[in-house]
Amino acid sequence: MAPGPSTPGPPPGTASITVAWLRLVAARIHERRAWLTGLDAAIGDGDHGINLDRGFAAVAADLESGVLATDSVGPLLTAAGRRLLGLVGGASGALYGRALMAAGNRVAANTTAGPAGTRRLAEDALAAAIDGIAALGHAAPGDKTMLDALVPALLALRAAPRGDLIESALARAAEAAEAGAAATIPLVARKGRASYLGERSAGHLDPGAASSAILVRCLADVVAAARGGGMPPSEPRAGR
Ligand code: ADP
Ligand code: MG
Repeated sequence: MAPGPSTPGPPPGTASITVAWLRLVAARIHERRAWLTGLDAAIGDGDHGINLDRGFAAVAADLESGVLATDSVGPLLTAAGRRLLGLVGGASGALYGRALMAAGNRVAANTTAGPAGTRRLAEDALAAAIDGIAALGHAAPGDKTMLDALVPALLALRAAPRGDLIESALARAAEAAEAGAAATIPLVARKGRASYLGERSAGHLDPGAASSAILVRCLADVVAAARGGGMPPSEPRAGR
């Protein structure tokens, strides 16, 4: 059930968008897992796509089977993050797991209603995810990591005019994430496995930045789809 008007917490509709986002992420990561793994084979150990596919497929399966509570965005993100943390090997499992858990914890307190609330929620979630990743991995922008996609996405979201539709602001964020990921190509990795290669890590797209850009693009796409169809349904439609 969607929370009633007097229920404190994130705006109604954001939980169903989060469910749709997690499902779309699982599908797109699955589609692109060989590409992501290939990127990681060039400057790491060739498991990034496999790692993420395993984790997000488990989250999607949990959504199907009803194991995850889907009526509130905060607990939903936290539970999905915990699942990634428990299941996904490699640095990215811990980093994305921590990121989603941090995002879930932060947005649980969001009480701003309407489209402004949805935008605020997206900004808060992304900021918390970045903080979680930075706290765990001690990376900064320019180190050739997932932060090189996520930080530009947050800056673009914050810089988008207040009057912008949420879907336009998120489309700008997705473009910034993709540009940020592409900009990792010439960088020398300073964190993670790729840093062991030193200068030889330059000339390759960072796999974590690439997957982060996919995650942000998925968010832009699900919000655009939900808004295009009017108010998003409060619960996933039966049978689809
Ligand atoms: P592993 O390197 O353990 O095999 P993955 O291949 O799944 O893990 O993920 C590699 C990605 O994780 C890198 O491309 C990079 O974007 C990200 N990463 C690694 N270390 C860090 C870190 N300390 N901070 C932020 N991101 C990191
Ligand atoms: Mg790897």
